[in-house]
Amino acid sequence: MTKLLETQDLVTNFYTYEGMVQALNRVSLVVEEGSTFGLVGESGCGKSVTVRSIMRIVQPPGRIEGGRVLVYFGGADQDHGLDLLMQSEEYMRGLRGCDMSMIFQEPNAALNPTLSIGYQVSESFLFHQTAEMSRKILDDWDQPGQAPALAGLLKPLYQRAAANPKDMLLAILSRIPILRRWRKPLLAEAKARSIDIIGKLGIPNPERVVDAFPHNLSGGMKQRIVIAMALACNPVLLIADEATSNLDVTIQAQILDLLVRLKKESISSILLITHDLGVVAETCDRVGVMYAGNLVEVGPVQGIFAHPRHPYTQALLDSVPKFQTEGELKSIEGAVPNLVSPPPGCRFHPRCPHMMDVCRDRLPDLLDADPGHQVACHWAEQNRAGGSA
Ligand code: SF4
Repeated sequence: MTKLLETQDLVTNFYTYEGMVQALNRVSLVVEEGSTFGLVGESGCGKSVTVRSIMRIVQPPGRIEGGRVLVYFGGADQDHGLDLLMQSEEYMRGLRGCDMSMIFQEPNAALNPTLSIGYQVSESFLFHQTAEMSRKILDDWDQPGQAPALAGLLKPLYQRAAANPKDMLLAILSRIPILRRWRKPLLAEAKARSIDIIGKLGIPNPERVVDAFPHNLSGGMKQRIVIAMALACNPVLLIADEATSNLDVTIQAQILDLLVRLKKESISSILLITHDLGVVAETCDRVGVMYAGNLVEVGPVQGIFAHPRHPYTQALLDSVPKFQTEGELKSIEGAVPNLVSPPPGCRFHPRCPHMMDVCRDRLPDLLDADPGHQVACHWAEQNRAGGSA
């Protein structure tokens, strides 16, 4: 197993007028290279806060207050990883949208209604790939007859951009009207790349789509554009936060097929946030089940679906409608706890059919149940001990 991303004891709290919301309580998970990891649970269980903490985009009054977020790519030490919580904001800006990209639930919120699709997709290339595009432009100009009349004047700018794309001198020089023209070939290259990636995502007429605005596109098309923006820089990890929840079933299936295809072709790993167990069954290799800010069970999808060990996972699976179901659908008794004052011990104990005295006193640790399968439950632990005795 090669690790790509790991969280260790991640703690995130929100400071509200009601009190401190303990949104993440020591969440530890591993996303392996080349895999799709699904994170499931009811609304408000901490799935989105987990990925926002990983990307370090938790907004105030939220605060990441403990743990580590380790990545094992981009030259990071393969034994120890690189802790993102210790990196500068500038480092994170370079990472987001490049090595780690995120797709949000609502494409309308991710797209600016006043800017063309081409402009918005191009921004990813201009922000993260200026150096590479500058080198390509210089190479093109080395071909006979390709360089514009101003090439002699503009070449030093491209050489500087190729060496250091965030050069302040370039930004200052670009304010001089005649030198502003240096951006034209860069914009043209970014637009060409945008057309290419939009076409690869199966959108017809990408040359026309780049000139369209978000309101000209359907919901499914907009979500594909958001995926195109996320994939622009070939991320090693794509995080999809309820990316298909607001789409109708047919479009949802198309987007999921697209993500599966993209993972095979280009992305190394996907972290998929969903409340839909059917989506997990179809797309994921491993799954983590969250309840009230805790990761309660994690393991291979087939293992967890066939033999769920945690009472909450069992209840979640029992509540999924099945073709052969007769009579009333099952639901989980009780309600999700208020995380300002969560229940002591196991946070699921007020709703758990197997609750024991110890459950009220002590939060269970996430322990191995089977190879690669961990569960945080005193009852499951007792069963295992009884079974192996
Ligand atoms: Fe139920 Fe106890 Fe297990 Fe929590 S630890 S899920 S209360 S049996």
